[in-house]
Amino acid sequence: MMVEWIGNIAKLSLPTPYAVGDVNVYVVKGDALTLIDAGSRTEESRSSLIRQLAELRLEMNDIEQVLITHHHPDHAGGLDFFTKDINILGHLYNQRWFEMDEDFIELHDQFYKDFSREMGIPDEMLGYINDYRSADRSITNKKLTSFLAEGDDLPGLRGWKIIETPGHAQSHLSFYKESDGIMIGGDHLLAKITPNPLMEPPFKPGEERPKPLLQYNSSLEKCLELPISLVYTGHGEEIRDVPAVIQSGRIRQHERAMRVKKMIEAHPSSGFEICRQLFPKVYQRELGLTLSETVGQLDYLESLGEIAHDSSSSVMIYAINQLQR
Ligand SMILES: [Zn+2]
Repeated sequence: MMVEWIGNIAKLSLPTPYAVGDVNVYVVKGDALTLIDAGSRTEESRSSLIRQLAELRLEMNDIEQVLITHHHPDHAGGLDFFTKDINILGHLYNQRWFEMDEDFIELHDQFYKDFSREMGIPDEMLGYINDYRSADRSITNKKLTSFLAEGDDLPGLRGWKIIETPGHAQSHLSFYKESDGIMIGGDHLLAKITPNPLMEPPFKPGEERPKPLLQYNSSLEKCLELPISLVYTGHGEEIRDVPAVIQSGRIRQHERAMRVKKMIEAHPSSGFEICRQLFPKVYQRELGLTLSETVGQLDYLESLGEIAHDSSSSVMIYAINQLQR
């Protein structure tokens, strides 16, 4: 399929080595010629990007700035293919994943170890935690040159607003053009899949851990308040009926939470025990993803007052909230 401009935006689909399949990146014409997300750090992705830019009569060097919706490798890995002095903009929280300095690696490993033990994961399964000491785990060798936060002007793209949409990633931003209601939404809203609310270490050591599913749900609320006409997504097709996609996603999520409540009703449980029941076939292979999803549902049920946790022993036990009855 030929790449074409629709208004000031061109959608490019790049291959990734990940299960999710292709990732969409966008060229946006403004005061600065902008690329939103950069794809992954593979030769296939680089040559595909060059080929598709050529269909727009552009070269890599014509891109004046890259905006990053979030730090995941399928969106930020391709930053490495740009020249040294390119402007790279995104949320401050991307930076620690790009820099991978000693302090962050320390915080990262300690956080996942403590968190996993609290959730009742047996020590012999802790190997699921990514080893960030090995060099090839790094997402990109580039760093952000400026940080973007909600309320800031978006440099080079007049009329576009920055919307912070944490949930799938703590660093997640969406970009919204008020004049025609177009959003470039990264992985916040996808047409066919609900993004996983991935657990991340808190920003500062010792801080309370994030509650990604609750954050995700409030980011959805925020989007419902905007008259969005079209979302250009990070994977797959565009979304036109935003309220319908949000609504059906939230119903599915609530139903899953109610299944978790039933499990806890039958038996007060650790996070790991719930995770095994929810994802019996994949929890061993995808412990990071399935545990994040499970803890999301537990945080959600707790926020509704349906369940409560007991942290008097080293493993946290979730039980039905007796005060609720
Ligand atoms: Zn993605």
